[in-house]
Amino acid sequence: MASKILNLSLSSLPPQSTMVSSSVLGFPRIGANREVKKAVEAYWAGKISADDLTKAAAEVKKASWTNVKAKGVDFVPSGEFSLYDHVLDHSAAFNVIPKRYVGLGLSPLDVYFAMGRGRQSEGVDVPASEMKKWFDSNYHFVVPEFSDETDFKLNFNKAVEEFKEAQAAGITTRPVVLGPVSFLVLGKASKDAKPGFQPISLLPKLIPIYETLLADLKVAGAEWVQVDEPILVLDTAANLESQFASAYAALSKVAPKILLTTYFARLESNVNYIAKLPISGLHIDLDRAPEQLDSVVAAIKPTNIVLSLGVVSGRNIWKTDFEHAIKLGQKAIDALGADRVIIATSSSLLHTPVTLASENKLTAEQKDWFSFALEKAGEVATIAAVLSGSQDAAVTAALEENKASIAKRRAFEKNSDDAVRKRLSAVTEDQYHRKSPFAVRKEIQAKHLNLPKFPTTTIGSFPQTKEIRQARAKLGKGEITTEQYEEFIKKEIELVVRFQEKIGIDLLVHGEPERNDMVQYFGEQLQGFVFTQNGWVQSYGSRYVRPPIIVSDVSRPAPMTVKWSSYAQSLTSKPMKGMLTGPVTILNWSFPRADVSRELQSKQLALALRDEVVDLEKAGISAIQVDEPAIREGLPLRRSDWDAYLKWAVDSFKLATAGVTDQLQTHSHFCYSDFDDIFPSIQRLDADVISIEASKSDMKLLNTFKQYGYSNQIGPGVYDIHSPRVPGSQEIKDRLKAMLEILPDSLLFVNPDCGLKTRGWKETEASLVNLVEGAKWARENY
Ligand code: GLN
Ligand code: ZN
Repeated sequence: MASKILNLSLSSLPPQSTMVSSSVLGFPRIGANREVKKAVEAYWAGKISADDLTKAAAEVKKASWTNVKAKGVDFVPSGEFSLYDHVLDHSAAFNVIPKRYVGLGLSPLDVYFAMGRGRQSEGVDVPASEMKKWFDSNYHFVVPEFSDETDFKLNFNKAVEEFKEAQAAGITTRPVVLGPVSFLVLGKASKDAKPGFQPISLLPKLIPIYETLLADLKVAGAEWVQVDEPILVLDTAANLESQFASAYAALSKVAPKILLTTYFARLESNVNYIAKLPISGLHIDLDRAPEQLDSVVAAIKPTNIVLSLGVVSGRNIWKTDFEHAIKLGQKAIDALGADRVIIATSSSLLHTPVTLASENKLTAEQKDWFSFALEKAGEVATIAAVLSGSQDAAVTAALEENKASIAKRRAFEKNSDDAVRKRLSAVTEDQYHRKSPFAVRKEIQAKHLNLPKFPTTTIGSFPQTKEIRQARAKLGKGEITTEQYEEFIKKEIELVVRFQEKIGIDLLVHGEPERNDMVQYFGEQLQGFVFTQNGWVQSYGSRYVRPPIIVSDVSRPAPMTVKWSSYAQSLTSKPMKGMLTGPVTILNWSFPRADVSRELQSKQLALALRDEVVDLEKAGISAIQVDEPAIREGLPLRRSDWDAYLKWAVDSFKLATAGVTDQLQTHSHFCYSDFDDIFPSIQRLDADVISIEASKSDMKLLNTFKQYGYSNQIGPGVYDIHSPRVPGSQEIKDRLKAMLEILPDSLLFVNPDCGLKTRGWKETEASLVNLVEGAKWARENY
């Protein structure tokens, strides 16, 4: 839409008091052409200087501020940009820097990156800090580590710097900071902390630092500050009333007007104490939790708090239904008055791609269904204008256009694939279960697979080298034929097979060279998905993914992986593990449909995968891994919603894997997961072997498995693959030793903690040789 026209219309509107403002909570950091990702990686490779990196980042920030403003948005965010992760930015700013990164002779920027990704160079050898999923998203943050010795200092004030940077570019922003309570609660006790230490106990020490930060912002001229306290949507926040009260009592005295932002779920009873805080605004997510509007409005009505309504999804890419958003907005206006209502994105737009404008391959019909970050900025501005009573022609036209688009999409949705829906409703209970219990299967599989004690295996992918990516790119551009590409892939597979044979891996993988991405690869072969060319979304650090979009009912027209797995098996007498991505993960790492439930989409995916699993067994594959790294992150944030989710999520995995005979060994894999609270569901998956990330979370995770008496086989990662660092063989032996103090030796597999696709060959070779040596040592000693 013509933003200039929209701006004009806003200025010709009735007086201030009837104006509804618009706001964006955060914007993608990558840049329209992946400039930031490229610059960060070039810096790591020593190809550009720190100054060059700063410049590249500055250009992207400026473009984002300018573009969002040009869409007519009133509150443009700044300070949420990051070169790696915004939580890590806060740790660096507040001097929450674990000792192992101090005194290494690194610049502050390199300390920052070392905390994020580890570092192994010029005599420096430090692992990365732990990463965790950001709430229920596929974004990962670097976990801050606290102890009584944490010495908070304000090393730098990024909020002020970026506010000024934006101002120099002619744009007045609303700075964003992560709130003190969330910052502490999202962190963990460091290894050297006293037993029982709770990070939140540091709040009184941290508040003065936030006071300085926010006071400086006020001095710099910021009228508002957006303070993110996303933990307010968690059940645990119910116990944090006094902490919130003391923190915000102190901060409100010195800060600009505080907009307290919450997102991804509902506030429930927490709103009762939030309403008593001395804040000027409250943001709630009405995309994820529209049902909370009434209770929140009721709670804040007697106050002066402005309500920011997150009606434009920060988590999905569907066009906002204006009519629906306007209804919600009107409801709030009727209760609070227009001057107390802001129309906003539901969360930061970090979780959506930058712009639809660069998509040339989607059909016009498909493009009309979606809105990416920049288009969403336009949506909040238009919805706010309509609610402000704008009679402007451009606004009216945008409203009509939206109505037409939504109607077309609804018509498309009705056109479902009947065969898929019928098949799903005919599924019987026995299709969810393996033929015999694990104890019986284990014996049969031991004979069939003939694996040694402490079998070694990997999680599936091997390094995705430049050559592999180039070959795929050439195929895409038609520079090589499909036959040439497949010959190339076969050679890669052979290389990976021979390498594993050479170093003595027991259960082989084919290395996944044919896969661009573990979800996209399947989405491209399934019916019901569409893809973007430039729809990158940050996963962690400089790693970005392009989630497929589920647009209709899902089915599998033909086998997807059988050709490659059976080719790999034909090369070797050792068993080859088939490799699939599970239904829940495909769903979670895609943009799902908004018109049907996640359960329905997950089970359609499960049926498609079930056919693939059965076909793999028929083709002579005797172990199949169905990765479900996203099963935990898909958990609803409110515990009262868990059972319903876990029921269909676990059932989907079972439906996908239970179609085989007892002799087929099923594997599953999960990354960075806390299992404490969902343990019965992990057991209920009934996978013969699971591999989990355990290298960074100490032994806590394994104790959980012990405590619950987990009965099936398990491969806790013996080293961290998220960093180029090579683990020494002694380090691996020590890990195995520690693991064997907790887990029975008959159940243990030896493997890295995740796939190797992001690693180079050099470190992969060295690490796996050490891993095999560790397993041999275990065989001799246990
Ligand atoms: N099989 C996948 C791989 O090795 C699993 C990756 C993941 O869990 N994220 O790449
Ligand atoms: Zn993994």
